Amino acid sequence: MRELLRSFKSYLQQQLEFGEEEILLPVKNKLERLAILRARVETCTLCPLSQARKNMVFGEGNENCSIAFVGEAPGREEDERGLPFVGLAGQLLTRAIEAIGMQRKDVYIANIIKCRPPNNRVPRESEIASCLPYLLEQLSIIRPSVIGLLGAVATQSLLKVHAPMFKLRGKVLRHSGMTLLPTYHPAALLRNPNLKKSFWEDMKLLSSTLESVKQARPDG
Ligand code: URA
Repeated sequence: MRELLRSFKSYLQQQLEFGEEEILLPVKNKLERLAILRARVETCTLCPLSQARKNMVFGEGNENCSIAFVGEAPGREEDERGLPFVGLAGQLLTRAIEAIGMQRKDVYIANIIKCRPPNNRVPRESEIASCLPYLLEQLSIIRPSVIGLLGAVATQSLLKVHAPMFKLRGKVLRHSGMTLLPTYHPAALLRNPNLKKSFWEDMKLLSSTLESVKQARPDG
């Protein structure tokens, strides 16, 4: 926010120096707004996870996507590379995206938590409370048509509910102006392959939900 205010102040000073009587507000595009947000998260020290991180994992993908995925938190490989879902669970997610006829580069992928919890433990409530506003701002810039919520931490944090995943998954929900579809986390499928069938049903529902949103809003 400080960075945004600083650039706004220097813009106003410049307008004054040029003798402008009318202030034209600059409209920043999505990439610029995401870059400003990213710079804020890079220097975030709101919770102790910031102290042990190798890299903050902001999220990646197409800022003009129609589908976004939200996971839990970076693991070891994500922390090493600064990118979301690049380990085994990420490979499974990439294959699932391709199975609904899209490419990983077409979607946006982020997490509830942007720094790796030690030994991949479940993020604490206080860590989620510190980090969630960054994700909400990120999603409000990107404005995907549908958001796939991967696993309990993503689902419970965004929906503010505490039911188990088998009850929450597979339903399209409108919440705070977003269209959300909770499903299992790909890491859960690696542990329990019996969940794959439901996950695949949810991916197909995600894809058909996107089609109906497009038909309802043909101009995008
Ligand atoms: N699990 C997650 O929830 N997010 C990642 O980025 C990687 C694994």
